[in-house]
Amino acid sequence: MTVDLDWENLGFGYLKLPERYISYYKNGEWDNGQMTQDATLHISESSPALHYGQQAFEGLKAYRTKAGDIQLFRPDQNAERLQKTADRLLMPQVPTEKFIEACKAVVKANAEYVPPYGTGATLYLRPLLIGVGDSISVKPAEEYIFTVFAMPVGNYFKGGLTPTNFIVAEDFDRAAPYGTGAAKVGGNYAASLLPGDKAHIAGFSDVIYLDPATHTKIEEVGSANFFGISRDNEFVTPLSPSILPSVTKYSLLYLAEERLGLKAVEGDVPIADLDRFTEAGACGTAAVISPIGGIQFKDRLHVFYSETEVGPITRRLYDELVGIQFGDIVAPKGWITKVE
Ligand SMILES: *Cc1c(COP(=O)(O)O)cnc(C)c1O
Repeated sequence: MTVDLDWENLGFGYLKLPERYISYYKNGEWDNGQMTQDATLHISESSPALHYGQQAFEGLKAYRTKAGDIQLFRPDQNAERLQKTADRLLMPQVPTEKFIEACKAVVKANAEYVPPYGTGATLYLRPLLIGVGDSISVKPAEEYIFTVFAMPVGNYFKGGLTPTNFIVAEDFDRAAPYGTGAAKVGGNYAASLLPGDKAHIAGFSDVIYLDPATHTKIEEVGSANFFGISRDNEFVTPLSPSILPSVTKYSLLYLAEERLGLKAVEGDVPIADLDRFTEAGACGTAAVISPIGGIQFKDRLHVFYSETEVGPITRRLYDELVGIQFGDIVAPKGWITKVE
C-alpha cells in the first residue's frame, strides 16, 4: 500500500512524486485542470510571478488514519485564505471546490506516498498560484497557473516536541503594517531569508518578528504563529493585520477553549512582558506545534517552561490537535475531509 521510505526520519524536503495537478487560467477563466507527471513548469521568461512577485502559495497535509484511510485537515480554510491572498495581489480566485478537488486528486494519485499511521509523518500538499504569460509591465498578469504538488514530510523544526530557542529580530521586519503580511506570498519569505540565516548561524531555530510599526509586540515566527500560555491559564496569540492568519492557530484557539478549558485570547503580546507566560510555542501546518524553550531578546534569553522539556499544556494541545488530524479524536464538525 505504501512505498518503502524511511518514514520515521523524514525531514521537510522536496521529493518528486509521480503525479501533480495543474490548471491554467486564460481569457478570464480557469480550465478544468488535469493531472500530469511533468514536474517542470514551462512559463514565459516575462511572467509577473518571476519579476514582481505576483504569486501565492498554501500548505496543508494529508493524514493516514489507524484504519488506513486518508484525510485532509480543514482544506476549505486553505482555499479561503488563498482567495484572500489572490484578492490582495489582484490574481483570480481559485474556487473552493476546485481547490479541494485538486488536493484530493493529488493525494489519491500519490496515495502510496502518504506515510503509514504511527510514523508521525504526513503528506504535505503545496498549492501554488502564479501570474504567468508575456507581460513585462507592472500590472497583473493575464494568465495564471494553479498547481498542487505533494511530498511526504516529517518535522519542520528539528526535534519535534523538543523545545528549541528563538531569537527576536531587532533590525528586520517580515512585513509592513499595511503590506502583505497577512497574505501567503513568497515575497514575505524572501524578506525573511537573511534574518533567518543569521538566527541559524547564531544557533537559534528561527526568528520572532516584532510588530513593524512599534517593535514592542510579538507578531509571529517567520513561518509559524506564536502562542503563549499565561499564568492564569490563558492561551494567548498576537492580534495584528500583518500576521499570517494560521489555520493551526485558529484551530488551537478553538481547542484551547472548547476542549482544554483555557481562556482563548487574541491580543497584544508585549515583548517586555514575557514573564506572564509559563509556556510558549510556534504553530503552523509544517511546524504543527513546536515548543519554544526560550526567546533571546537583546542580551537576555527568556526561558519559558524549560529549554529541554515540553510544558504540560503545550503537550495537551499537541495531543488534541494531532489526535484530531490523524482521526484518533473526534473532530469538531467540518474539520475533516476524507480523501478515500
Ligand atoms: C503558512 C504560514 C503560517 C502557518 O499557517 P497554517 O495555516 O497554520 O499552516 C504561519 N506564518 C506564516 C508566515 C505562514 O506563511
